[in-house]
Parts: sequence; structure tokens; C-alpha cells
Amino acid sequence: METLLGSSTSRAETGSLPERGRGDTVLDEVRDLCRDDHAYTDGTVFNSICSAPLEIARRVYAEHLDANLGDNRIYPSLRRAEAQLSAMLGELLGHPGAVGVTTSGGTEANLLAVLAAVRRHRSRSGGRGGPARIVLPESAHFSFDKIVGLLPVEPVYAPLDERLRVRPAELARLVTADTALVVATAGTSEAGAVDDVPAVAEHTAALGVPLHVDAATGGFLIPFARELGHELPPFAFDVPGVTSVTLDPHKYGGVPIPSGHLLLRDGADAELLRTASHYRGTVDHHGLLGTRPGAAVLAAWAALRALGRDGYRDLVGGVFARRDLLLGLLRAAGFEVAVQPQLTVVTVRHSEPERLVDALERRGFIASVARRYGLLRLVVHWHQTEEQLRALVAAMADADAR
Ligand code: PLP
Repeated sequence: METLLGSSTSRAETGSLPERGRGDTVLDEVRDLCRDDHAYTDGTVFNSICSAPLEIARRVYAEHLDANLGDNRIYPSLRRAEAQLSAMLGELLGHPGAVGVTTSGGTEANLLAVLAAVRRHRSRSGGRGGPARIVLPESAHFSFDKIVGLLPVEPVYAPLDERLRVRPAELARLVTADTALVVATAGTSEAGAVDDVPAVAEHTAALGVPLHVDAATGGFLIPFARELGHELPPFAFDVPGVTSVTLDPHKYGGVPIPSGHLLLRDGADAELLRTASHYRGTVDHHGLLGTRPGAAVLAAWAALRALGRDGYRDLVGGVFARRDLLLGLLRAAGFEVAVQPQLTVVTVRHSEPERLVDALERRGFIASVARRYGLLRLVVHWHQTEEQLRALVAAMADADAR
């Protein structure tokens, strides 16, 4: 099995660390190294929630490669940029006063949300409470599989409905007054399912249990889709009881990787995440990383200001229009759409999804299989054109006929 850690071919191909430096010829070597990669724009990428960054974000990122968010003495303006970025994202999520922590992505943001819950649980129980009970949907992103392996938590999973959303009443039965955290998802990566956050929050708020919403994928889609009239539930701080939200500018925000964000309703919760710096004049940290890419914060700041609400609304409107086109094309070609999508992930029921995805890959197209559901999965993004979507469905039909 090929793993990134264990690929035995890489050393043979590149040789070892050269005794004599190769200088600029290494640029050709790098091109060669990356020869098998796809470009978002080449019409072959249908599995990715990330996309080509916006031009303005790319430019700002490239101009600030040195910027280190971990060093506020060399880069004092980055803290201002980070605070303003958090305020803009908080505003997008219905709470401009939210306190934010920029992260490397959704995994780190979710980890911080659970870490805060674990620390709150510990301090409430005087350290004698045992593992913190966390109630999650069965659809929770696999970042939570990593998190439950790292932190002292007892995960409990709530079942899903036929559209792959958590069942709020069944989740409520699992939530006790000493539950440390409940998680809901606003846009699962496998199917784009948006949990009924208001229904979940009704139960958690009644018991005073914190509710974290993982909107890593949906955070930049749902607010604008709602403004465009798509029927989606509120999911963020406009829902009383939601205490924290993850959203990732490097997914549908058009910002280069790595760019994630955790937002907290109550600034006091940030205290739970604080680690004091050992250096005079260096600010305390609230995330996991020490040295952090300031370029990503500036790029996110620039993307939000350059596009504004109307720019994102246009982009999101375009992606939803492509999704509807894809749904029509798939149905016309005889494919069964498994779940009527709420966001931009389209799932297809097929007797042999793995075989179909492999056949597509041989034709140059990257689709994926959502293994937990046994469904073929296609992600619609702004890098795809109508023509490319037509080419994909034609390739699917051709691959399926053989
Ligand atoms: N949560 C959700 C819902 C996601 O869709 C993803 C990634 O696709 C993540 C968390 C993890 O984000 P990242 O890969 O940026 O760490």
C-alpha cells in the first residue's frame, strides 16, 4: 500500500542530498517532481473542497512570505490584521464581537474547540471528572477521529437521517448535563449535509452544554446561499446556544492553504486556550502552532475586503448554479443522485462506486468515494466550467457502459 510516509520510490527518483548544490536547475527538477499533479483549472478535479485561490489573495500571500504571526515584535501589524479578520468572519457568522483564532485549517480549529471543552470540563470537576463526554454526529469529519485519539474525551455518536444530517431528537437523548461539548456540522465534507443547528441548540442550550459547529466547509457557502434564497437553516452565532464555529477561508473562501479559523462567542473562552509565551514582549498563544504564516491571514483579510459580500454572493451563486447543472446532467445520463444536496457535494448511488471512480481516474478525472456511505462523491467548485461538467458526466456514462 502506498503511503506518503512510506513511498519507497521517492528516494530512488531524487537520489540523496547532493554534495554539490544544483542551483537553479533544481527548478526543472521540481517541475519534474510535480509532473503528475493536476491543476484545478484543467477540468479534471471533482473531489476537492479547496480550489485555486483568488488572484488578489495569491498576490498578497506571495508578497508576505516572511510574515510570522508568532512574532508580534517583528510583525506588529499582523495582530491587527488577525483581529480585523476575526471581526469580519464574526460578522459573517452573525456576531462581530466573536473572538477568533486563526489556524492551519479545520482540523486545528476543531481540535482547539474540543481542547477548550476538555479544559472547562476539568476545571468544573476539579480535575476528577474523568474523560470529557463529547456528543458528535456519526457524520463528523475525520479530524474528530484524530482529536479523540489525542485528547482525554469519551466520544458518543448520534445517528443520521436519510439526508445524512444528525437526528436532533436522538442526539438530545445522548446529551447529559455533564456533557462537555456537542458538535454539529454545517456542511459535511462527504455529502455537504447541514445539520439542523437550531434544533440541536434547543437541547444543548436548555442544559447549558456548549455547542461547537464545524462549518469548515459550509461557513463561506451557507450565509451567501441563504441570502440568495436557498433553503438552509441558520447555523452560526445567530442561533442562541452556539458557542464556537470553525470555518476555513482555504475552502470556499478563495484563500491559499493554510487558512482556517475558530470563532468563539464568548471572549472568556479564549482564556481556556491560552499558553503563556516564555519571551518578554511576545504575545501569548491560543492556537497549536508557534511559527504561523502571517501571509495566510493577510491573504484572507484581502480576499474578504476585495470581494465583499456581493463578490462572495456571486461566487456562491455560480457554484450552486453549476451544482444544479451537474444534477440535471447526471439524472439525464441515468445516474441516481443519492441525496438531494444541500450544498455543493453531489453523491451518486452506484453498485460499484470504487470501480467507477477508478475508471474515471484512468480517463484523467478525479472523483471520490465517500467510504462510510458507499457513495460516489463529486465536489462542485468555482474552478469548473459548464463544459468541464459535461465532459465529466460523459466520461462517467462512458466508463459505466463498459
Ligand atoms: N471539517 C469539515 C466539515 C471539513 O470538510 C474538513 C475538511 O474538508 C475539515 C473539518 C478539516 O479541515 P482541514 O483539512 O483544513 O484541516
